[in-house]
Amino acid sequence: MASVNPPAGVVKLYALIAETIRCGQAASVAARARMLQLRVNAIAAREAGRYPREPRPPEDGPLSEWCCSRCGSRRKCDFNYSGSYMRTVVFEDGDAVLRIPRLRCRCGGNVPGDFEPMLCRYQRHWYDLMLAAVGLIVEGMSLRAARRHFARLGVYVGLSSLARAVGRFEDVDINAEIGKRMVEALSLDAAFWRVEGDSRAHLYAHEVRERDEPLVRDGREVAWHQTGKVLGIGLAMDETQQAWQDLLADMVSAGVVDSSAELFVTSDGNQGLLSAVEMELPWAVLQRCVWHIGYRTRSKIVNAKHRDALERDALWVFNADSVEAARGRLGRFMARWREREPEAAASVGRKFMQGVEYLRHPERKVRPRTAAISERYNQEAKRRFRPGRSFGSERNLRAMTRLLALRHNCIIDRTDWLEHAARWRWDQPVPLTTAYQHESRPAPLYTNGGT
Ligand SMILES: [Zn+2]
Repeated sequence: MASVNPPAGVVKLYALIAETIRCGQAASVAARARMLQLRVNAIAAREAGRYPREPRPPEDGPLSEWCCSRCGSRRKCDFNYSGSYMRTVVFEDGDAVLRIPRLRCRCGGNVPGDFEPMLCRYQRHWYDLMLAAVGLIVEGMSLRAARRHFARLGVYVGLSSLARAVGRFEDVDINAEIGKRMVEALSLDAAFWRVEGDSRAHLYAHEVRERDEPLVRDGREVAWHQTGKVLGIGLAMDETQQAWQDLLADMVSAGVVDSSAELFVTSDGNQGLLSAVEMELPWAVLQRCVWHIGYRTRSKIVNAKHRDALERDALWVFNADSVEAARGRLGRFMARWREREPEAAASVGRKFMQGVEYLRHPERKVRPRTAAISERYNQEAKRRFRPGRSFGSERNLRAMTRLLALRHNCIIDRTDWLEHAARWRWDQPVPLTTAYQHESRPAPLYTNGGT
């Protein structure tokens, strides 16, 4: 074997890389631990009325938030520092031990400290770790892959902890804010996801917006619409009229859509959906997705060889410039297919009026004839969900569908979805402490008297 021993005084490059990474990680973990330690010390000092070895506060001073578990005293002058105990905090890339000061009352009783929400009881994983996990999983990493990611950083996180981190966001705000603008067009669709050996319908409503410039491919304008925000989502046992009505009624009461403005709705032919739109959005123009009309002919075709041609012809019928032109095309379509594929041809004929609604409203700026925008969104969700089969609970499914909608909406706003989620979950007041005032004190501050 060839010797690859480096000359004296030289290390192999990877050893240097690894040491650099380790060194940076350790320094970063230590810095975070130190910052939290200073805050812990400051909170204890506020409740005890002093730092250790400082003079006792006056007897008539303000009362502490903490109290003696034996005599109930809240007088800071009754409290003494009495050592500390160790507490491990796990960050996303390493863990650290904090020394939590103990207080004892003059009567000998214990004064339990409260450091929530910064350090919650029984919570080992700190917030940065939870947030990193949610970030990775919503961006498409499986729970197992996320676990391997953290393991590589020296942190062990169980699959159930990762699932719980996601589940915390089951009610997260999806940032459907569109300002004072009125929605001109909606695309509605449903997808089905498995959970706990069962299935749930994920219903979603998208805004469809006009493109600033039509998308041109090979010199032809091919797309005039772009996706807007996901304005409403729901999970239901099935895609029923009631489920759709609940979702649409919520959007009406939230003021997202309004009967005083024109609305164009595109969807597939699900009967529950169509009835719900008639009930909740009676003023809307309802366009049946022409791609779905074409696709649905496939199951009605007798001779498999006709499939592609018939579906293409059906699309051609609806891609006319006017209702009259489309009617002419329907005539030719029928002449070609009525004999050979009567059932498939009849289904296109039945849906003709619903498929040409967009041609009857040329004055509308946004009138998509397909639900392609919903389909694309669903495809993206599918790519992310596949590794997530093991979520296993309705709570996590809810959290994932909402986080995906939030991510989609924040990308449109060019804002950070993870920060939005974190603010929704954790924008709560934490005690203001003068954490840095004592930074120059030598550490450790406490003797490890108690355990
Ligand atoms: Zn006491």
